[in-house]
Amino acid sequence: MRLPDYLVNDPGLLTIPRDRLRDLQGERLRAMVRYVYERSPFWREKLEQVGTAPEDVRGVDDIGRLPTCTKQELQREQEEHPPLGRYVCTDRAEWVRFFATSGTTGRPLRRVFSARDWGYMIDRFTRQSPWTPDDVILLTLPIDGAAGPTAGMEAAAHAGALVIAGGLWSTERKIDTMVSLRPTSITGSTSYLLHLTEVARKKGIDLSSLGVRTVACIGEPGAALDSTRAKISGRFGGAAVTDGYGMTEVFPLGGNCAFDRSIHLAEDIVLVECLRPGGNEPVEPGELGELVYTNIVGDTQPLLRYRSGDLGRLSDGSPCGCGVTHLRIQGSVEGRADDMIWYRGANFFPSAVESAISSVEGVASEHQIVLTDDDAGFPHLTVRVEREDTRDDTRQYVAASAHQIGSALGIALKEALGVTAEVEVLPSGALPRPSPGAKARRVLDQRHQSNRTEEAR
Ligand SMILES: [Zn+2]
Repeated sequence: MRLPDYLVNDPGLLTIPRDRLRDLQGERLRAMVRYVYERSPFWREKLEQVGTAPEDVRGVDDIGRLPTCTKQELQREQEEHPPLGRYVCTDRAEWVRFFATSGTTGRPLRRVFSARDWGYMIDRFTRQSPWTPDDVILLTLPIDGAAGPTAGMEAAAHAGALVIAGGLWSTERKIDTMVSLRPTSITGSTSYLLHLTEVARKKGIDLSSLGVRTVACIGEPGAALDSTRAKISGRFGGAAVTDGYGMTEVFPLGGNCAFDRSIHLAEDIVLVECLRPGGNEPVEPGELGELVYTNIVGDTQPLLRYRSGDLGRLSDGSPCGCGVTHLRIQGSVEGRADDMIWYRGANFFPSAVESAISSVEGVASEHQIVLTDDDAGFPHLTVRVEREDTRDDTRQYVAASAHQIGSALGIALKEALGVTAEVEVLPSGALPRPSPGAKARRVLDQRHQSNRTEEAR
């Protein structure tokens, strides 16, 4: 058995009424369950374990009858049945692309795409991107091995845009290229793009006057924060800031629109559920839960009910101002279940610290969150920040003193986290910068293991 060919590259799919979307999802889910039961020993075993036969799944309402799966389980499966695990449902001759997950949580997962799946990846980008032959796109991070950005770049080239892959160039060379080729769109991680603007400013180059229309943030959350978005947009002359979201093991999942910063999911491709973390019951729309994805179109390594570990809140099904009827992750992904920091009975995500930092004048965006134990074994929280470099700033601006910054940030952190943090204000450039393409590692948790979780209980 093979999956049917589906239409993906149709912008009309983004605005179809929800009852029609639901029918289409039900049809695709039914086909997918039959398909994996027949083609994948891994999925057949899992379905049999929960006592579900393919014919038990008649539509989306039956999704609770399907087994969930986790990254750890897939890692184990690939280890025991190398190289790809027994959830591969197509033959070697059909594969055209190989990637691996970033491996931030353990061993990377190997991922292949058939020509059919890879075509859908590109279609998924093409249907919602307004690229034209007039566009010039500069990528500021290497995209080798990154499935979403690679498909995005190919989709842009298909649309006739000029794509400049500058990920391996020095920051100076990227800036020179921006000045000479005037990209309409620039892509990179939020931390690196802010770094790029800092370097340009020191060289006396104003990136805000080059005509960049969109800034596509990938690789790390951050553009989802209003304050970070505003900062990035301002430094590129008021450009629209988009935030992409995807998982190599599933598919590119979505992005925001000009009306709304929430992540619009591609529900005709991937079903989404929001479950109580650690449990199996769905939470209400607007409630924080773990996002769980079912790929309903891909034929190569299909995943049913994949527990992403990402926490977020789903919209209630009402359409966005842009007309898209698919569910949205409100705001954005709020954190990884495993990134949540437990501290003195409270818990918070690193993004809450970032948000507090960007609310204080005179502080640069780079920072570190340091957790240590004191001599008596009590945990301590320190946030290290840098004063913003204002040397080349032409605005009338009185630089805040380190003391003023420290106390303002102390108050903002107390408000955001509910706990007191010590603030260290360092000179500009004192903290390590992430290298292009690398995810910033800003949390240094040096506490004894028992202080990381136990105290929270
Ligand atoms: Zn929208």
